[in-house]
Amino acid sequence: MVTAKSSHFSCAANFSRGRKCVFCGSFKLYRTARRYVKCQRCQRQKSLTQLRRELEIIKGFYQQVPAYRLASDLKLDQKTVSRVYQHLRECLYHTAELEAGRLRGEIELDEAYFGGRRKGKRGRGAAGKSLVFGLLERKEHVYTRVIEGVSAPELMQHIKEKTRKGSVYYTDSFRGYQSLKRYGRHHQVNHSKSYVDKKTKNHINWIEGFWSYAKHILYNYRGVSKYHFPMYLKEIEYRFNHRGENLYKQFIKLYFGYDSP
Ligand SMILES: [Zn+2]
Repeated sequence: MVTAKSSHFSCAANFSRGRKCVFCGSFKLYRTARRYVKCQRCQRQKSLTQLRRELEIIKGFYQQVPAYRLASDLKLDQKTVSRVYQHLRECLYHTAELEAGRLRGEIELDEAYFGGRRKGKRGRGAAGKSLVFGLLERKEHVYTRVIEGVSAPELMQHIKEKTRKGSVYYTDSFRGYQSLKRYGRHHQVNHSKSYVDKKTKNHINWIEGFWSYAKHILYNYRGVSKYHFPMYLKEIEYRFNHRGENLYKQFIKLYFGYDSP
């Protein structure tokens, strides 16, 4: 039986059989000595063994298998797996930043804390954690940024950079959002009462949904350091914004077709 998931992987078949160029998509390939394939169009070549290994590792990345576990599954050095993972995360980081235009229309804003050893301490002011500001255009996409503080001027600066003036904003009742009404329409949700304001139907459920999506993925990766966290965050943002697409295919494209800036 062909499931939706397994058909996701068929996009790699022509690459791994050495029929399609992984760098430019051309079908004009020929084999050289030592199991290399070379492209007549872009002139690039690659060892077929290495190519297949990298495609397997990208598949593991797509499936969110931690590097150490994939290494043992594929009987590879963990460094080999980590190198591919890291390169992919760099690609995703830059792509997500490049793709993010200015949000417009109905936008939900919220901050969240990630990481830290202690459980339980939540809300603004938790020490040793990464603070993230999230902006979500409803029915569209999310943009995230690791930030230093939540003072009103800081928040407004991010909002001015990433959203169009005159948008409709939904936030909780945090004071940092007070000056938003001068920039667009501002609806506040009082979280201490209910998640959907009964009278106005205002809510920030979409961005809350993104936070739980992110926390679920991070839980799967087990212990991401504060230093590496921004990379992981952008990976999650990319996955979320492209959730309706074949992510494995996207990852292959980004991995082989991407030149570091
Ligand atoms: Zn080519």
